[in-house]
Amino acid sequence: MKKSALPVIRFPQGMFPELRHRLLADLERESFALLLGKRTVVDDHCVIKVVEVVHPTRDDYDGQSLASLRLKREFVYRQLVRMQQQGDVDTLIDVHTHPFCPNGAAFSGIDDRDERDFMSWLDETLDDIGYASVVLSQSDYSARVWSMEDGQPVASTARVKTQIIAEAWPCADSRHDDTTDVTPSDLGTGFLARTTLALGLDAMRSIVSDQTIAIVGVGGLGSVVAENLIHMGFQSVQLIDPDVVEITNLNRIVGAYHSDALDSRLKVEVVGEHLRKINPDAVVEAHAVGIEDDSTLAALMRSDWIVVATDNHFSRYHAQIIALQLGVPLLSAGVNINVKDGQIADWSGEVIIARSGDGLCLNCLGRINPTLVAAYEHRADTIGAELVRKGYVTGQEVKEPAVKTLNAIVGAMAVDALLNQFTERQRHVPVTVYESNHLSAIYPDEQWQSSRQVSCYFCSSLQ
Ligand SMILES: [Zn+2]
Ligand SMILES: [Zn+2]
Repeated sequence: MKKSALPVIRFPQGMFPELRHRLLADLERESFALLLGKRTVVDDHCVIKVVEVVHPTRDDYDGQSLASLRLKREFVYRQLVRMQQQGDVDTLIDVHTHPFCPNGAAFSGIDDRDERDFMSWLDETLDDIGYASVVLSQSDYSARVWSMEDGQPVASTARVKTQIIAEAWPCADSRHDDTTDVTPSDLGTGFLARTTLALGLDAMRSIVSDQTIAIVGVGGLGSVVAENLIHMGFQSVQLIDPDVVEITNLNRIVGAYHSDALDSRLKVEVVGEHLRKINPDAVVEAHAVGIEDDSTLAALMRSDWIVVATDNHFSRYHAQIIALQLGVPLLSAGVNINVKDGQIADWSGEVIIARSGDGLCLNCLGRINPTLVAAYEHRADTIGAELVRKGYVTGQEVKEPAVKTLNAIVGAMAVDALLNQFTERQRHVPVTVYESNHLSAIYPDEQWQSSRQVSCYFCSSLQ
């Protein structure tokens, strides 16, 4: 299966259903809205993250007769001026309805002409502003991103993506996609038959088709997450980790054997091989680099979720920055074992879900220590040495205690929390804690909101 490189327009949580609801409230006439977005382009991949919706007032429409209804140019220009002043957005997305169409949303000849003219004008006037458009019927959408090729405006079909499947809408052009289509009979009789009996056909269909999960860190926790994802039916995963298997890892990495440690094999290769042995149809991409490496960005642009399963603050920081930049939802899993004077003082773990638009991230929840990020980033130079000298960090990579059972529980919690984003069986919980101290318990952390750092630089500038 080759993943298509269609441009993606990504909405934060809640925004796309609200937009549809508002624009399709009036089925008597076409309605319009402008979205302001930020685009990331790497090779032939393009992701536009929607940042803001601007609804025109009746005065912003040019003419009230149905045939000639359109937005006044002045209204559009005002948004372009604002975008240039604001600086955090660089793409204009125009959205309108074809309310007389029950389904099969398609751009009309008039849309084609208007948009082509606008793109040419935009290119001549403000060549750093991107342009895309979406048309909504009563039950689906069609979308495209405009660019200039040899001085001519060219439209590429695009996909709209939401944070969760429940907010998504059918794409009228999806029959042209080359993504896998798993038939109900595959689910009923294949290796996922028992999972399908538990989760139901609808949930399974959205899990197995068209979902790519990136896993940052495939050690003791990440390998368990990866194995659980494959067992639950996810078909496409991307593994990101620069490290090799060592003898001391063999107490917890799923799929790693003694010989792998002797041969110093890459964790992404070893775990990837394990996943493909479980499901030969699974698409497993191995990236033997740290997440900060530029080469991972294109992969993450194709992912629907980023799962962070590393205890390293530097990679957590980068994963969160990229997730916010691209508008991709992030799931973070972590474990903690604290031994004091030969006694276990803490044995716990947590799962955090930070979707774009939720108003929380690993930074404002205090899960990223800037000193540790800086020390890791500058580990080879004088800043790193200075942090060690002042006692902020030790200078050596601290080997934390780590055991399989804790990883297995928290890894299963992480995948269950992710599955709940598809099935919506339980209410959404941003922070879930596992604790095995006086008692063993899994509970929602209801305090996250009050302990959150209110003015978060990450969320406020990138979200
Ligand atoms: Zn139209
Ligand atoms: Zn934040």
